[in-house]
Amino acid sequence: MSERKVVKSEEQWRQELTPAQYDVLRKAGTEPPFTGEYVYNKESGDYRCAACGAMLFGADTKFESGTGWPSFTEPAVAEAVELRPDNSLFMRRTEVVCRTCGGHLGHVFDDGPGPGGQRYCINSAALQFQAAKVTPGGDADATGGAKAGGGGGVADGARASEQPASATVSTQHTSDTR
Ligand code: FE
Repeated sequence: MSERKVVKSEEQWRQELTPAQYDVLRKAGTEPPFTGEYVYNKESGDYRCAACGAMLFGADTKFESGTGWPSFTEPAVAEAVELRPDNSLFMRRTEVVCRTCGGHLGHVFDDGPGPGGQRYCINSAALQFQAAKVTPGGDADATGGAKAGGGGGVADGARASEQPASATVSTQHTSDTR
């Protein structure tokens, strides 16, 4: 468990998280169905870990499962989550954990609608939704904001080095005059 990038004591987590968040994320609890704040959320944006802020699920993979919990077909990036067998409560399930902080998110089942056939059943309390920024007067660009950074501006010294105005203008055949 040393690969966690965010490690805090239980005491710290208890202070930082709400009781509902703490119960889910640190105690692997499950919020009652149809009670979480994101069950019916259809806005576009990012679902991040409520504990550490890691990007977990994109709204474009969210679907209406009818279960009462936010459901996704896949994580935003596979590495964002960790899957591990959970045989508690006399069931065989696969637990979904935030890889960054180890927080419990929910479970994944193989009856999902997407091509991968997975249904990530995630507690709202484990998530922090961040609505997509809407560019005024433009289409909301899903990939926006991730422009290849830097690079702006003219490279030093490369500014228009007094190019002799096209040297080949001379031979202008004006022999059109018959
Ligand atoms: Fe996390």
